[in-house]
Amino acid sequence: RKKKVPCRSGVELQKLVDKAKRKANEGKVASYIPALQLENPEDLSCAILFPNNDCISAGDIEKKFTLQSISKIISLAYALIDLGEEHVFHKVGMEPTGDPFNSIIKLETESQAKPLNPMINAGALAITSLIKGKDANEKFTNLLQFVRKLAGDESIGFNREVAISEFNTSHLNRSLCFFMKNSGVIIGDVEEIMEVYTKQCAIEMNCLTLARIGYIFAFDGKDPETNEQLIPKSVARICKTFMVTCGMYNASGEFAIKIGIPAKSGVSGGIMGSVPGRFGIGIFGPALNEIGNSHTGLTLLEYLAEKYELSMF
Ligand code: GLU
Repeated sequence: RKKKVPCRSGVELQKLVDKAKRKANEGKVASYIPALQLENPEDLSCAILFPNNDCISAGDIEKKFTLQSISKIISLAYALIDLGEEHVFHKVGMEPTGDPFNSIIKLETESQAKPLNPMINAGALAITSLIKGKDANEKFTNLLQFVRKLAGDESIGFNREVAISEFNTSHLNRSLCFFMKNSGVIIGDVEEIMEVYTKQCAIEMNCLTLARIGYIFAFDGKDPETNEQLIPKSVARICKTFMVTCGMYNASGEFAIKIGIPAKSGVSGGIMGSVPGRFGIGIFGPALNEIGNSHTGLTLLEYLAEKYELSMF
């Protein structure tokens, strides 16, 4: 099943993309995952999916990128559907943090080392550890099938080079896992969790497909083409709320004030936006700011926020 939503080039959107691109030299591609260093900081693409399959795009929308932290919203949705709220929130909290995404400090200070929320690495690793399956391969495949369903595209896969590159250099994420294993938040084999997590972060798609997934959250879990309920409304609501409070790392407060929509970014430079009841946005711009958000992507969103009066507040 490979659905293709036709997407027309947005002339206005292309102008805004070109304008935002001029800021590429102010950002830097992520380098702590060696394979991500190969990206071109000048790349910037965007797709916006409206109801009735109306879609506009700009930039190279065929260009694929890895989800990185954007996958945390999808694994959270998967775990909530599979295990329910009570189980999930027994493992992770609901509170935002001012610490960087990969910080370990709160694990020692919070009672029982429960990660503050599922968007920071500790919380996301705890969520990944809950995915069922007999081994890493089956667990990852279960999650990937869910991503394919949301993407409406059975061909969605992961970038092996990026996954291996992260797996081999994930000393900090391994430490987070061992820390949480010590306190009983994580049960199971750390290497297996790391394998599933690094593959999950390396799931690849273009900004059109990302806009489609953003749309599903924006429209209470419904498939943009068939209206089928792909995610229960309550789960879509929880995910959107985390996108508002924790989706843009420790700059989520500033983002809520300046842009004002549920969004999730990743260190690849991807941003998924979900404007409730209006549209889904997929952006790829690998030039990052110091916090790890796409600098060109944020700039573009600021332009879009003005043009479409995006803020929901
Ligand atoms: N795979 C990345 C990590 O765990 C994801 C981080 C991100 O996109 O914020 O470090």
